[in-house]
Amino acid sequence: MQVYKFRFECGKVLRSEYLMSAQKGCELIRDLFSRPLATGEVAFVYLGYAGIVLRLEDTVMAFDVANLLENSAIAAFERLDLLVFTHNHGDHYNRARARRILKDTAAHIVAQKQVAEDLGGAQLDRLTIAEHRSPFSVGGLEVVAINGVHPRPINVYRVKKGRLGVFHGGDSGYSSVKDFPAQLAFLPTGVPSPSCSPESAFRFTLDLNPRVAVAMHGTPAQMNSFKALVKRKLPDTTVLIPRKNVTETILL
Ligand SMILES: [Zn+2]
Repeated sequence: MQVYKFRFECGKVLRSEYLMSAQKGCELIRDLFSRPLATGEVAFVYLGYAGIVLRLEDTVMAFDVANLLENSAIAAFERLDLLVFTHNHGDHYNRARARRILKDTAAHIVAQKQVAEDLGGAQLDRLTIAEHRSPFSVGGLEVVAINGVHPRPINVYRVKKGRLGVFHGGDSGYSSVKDFPAQLAFLPTGVPSPSCSPESAFRFTLDLNPRVAVAMHGTPAQMNSFKALVKRKLPDTTVLIPRKNVTETILL
């Protein structure tokens, strides 16, 4: 059976039905870490929904990874500096996997209040509860959370490393982020969120003025209509529709 053709160094002993995905997840993370990056280049993996793992220079951050990373993939991280959660919906946050990441890496967690409480709140010394528009520093990064728009409380984030700003919009509808420009923006375009749409992603783009906007959290049609909106009105911004579970590199 094809399922047994996997490299042992990339997996732990898991039930047979998980072997292929465990191996794939592990290889995906190894590929992300081993990818050579030229000056100004960043690499990331889109895991589906709003799940992103991003590598820029020697810094690695992960956003809304929910249960999208297998344990073997988590074990393959050479480092993780920052783990960010926008809110507690299941396609964004998973308690068991978040704890696993905390166990296997030295990551600092930045989370919206309800997520933070679910994880153990003040008992966790590596956790910061992100408050609306109050920037803070963690591990050499500057982070700011902004209240988003969603049926549940949600944060969107701008993380800065030096002069490079990265925005992540969870699956939030539009909320003003004019004060927080970013060269790279991960923007939700729709399904399965009732709050975001190609239009709300476009409004975020107008505020952020990114060099590259990455479409996420939507159907291919929604991502494409976001891309068309940006192309028509903002010729200096490139929209990337990422392939799922593939390392993508971008020159910023
Ligand atoms: Zn949600």
